[in-house]
Amino acid sequence: MVERSAYIRMVGGSIPSARTRKEKSKSFGSPRGRPVEIKGDIENNLMNIKYLDLSKDEKELIDAAERVLANAYNPYGSQTKVGASARISSGEIVIGSSMANASSTVNLCAERVALAAANSIGHRDIIAMAIIGTDSDGVIENPIMPCGVCRQFMEEFLIINNKDIPIICSNSSKDIIIRTSFKELLPLPYEGNRQ
Ligand SMILES: [Zn+2]
Repeated sequence: MVERSAYIRMVGGSIPSARTRKEKSKSFGSPRGRPVEIKGDIENNLMNIKYLDLSKDEKELIDAAERVLANAYNPYGSQTKVGASARISSGEIVIGSSMANASSTVNLCAERVALAAANSIGHRDIIAMAIIGTDSDGVIENPIMPCGVCRQFMEEFLIINNKDIPIICSNSSKDIIIRTSFKELLPLPYEGNRQ
């Protein structure tokens, strides 16, 4: 089930206030004690917004993700499908759609597809991302959020770019959108290979 766990978390969870989040961001660091220095903190960005609240660039990004959502593949279970888009520093947008499999462990999430596609054309210079999802009935009420695997995958791009990367996560009708960032989605990443 592509992204289903994240969906359930959003339904049952609550979004921390900007103040709570800001306090948390100050204590950001590696669990092994090595400080992680990433420039470009994105403050006060975890909020529910609507499509009309987005900037022109953000609208373009989420619209690109929505278009590629039509190519997502998941005939199984929840039939949750996700479209993702990543903007590279040239301004171009690279897209990815989720692809499920009879063996769910090999499902490909849209986020990783888009980021790997960008890498494949020689671009790891990601400056922003957007994702949007649907369910079997074509509707996801709450914003789709990256799964834990994708958050770890995305975190690699923080190290590559040495700056935080914004991401907007939308429900299917684009009337509930969360604006957050890679760093915010995974403040304490696994860093095994970096030791
Ligand atoms: Zn994922």
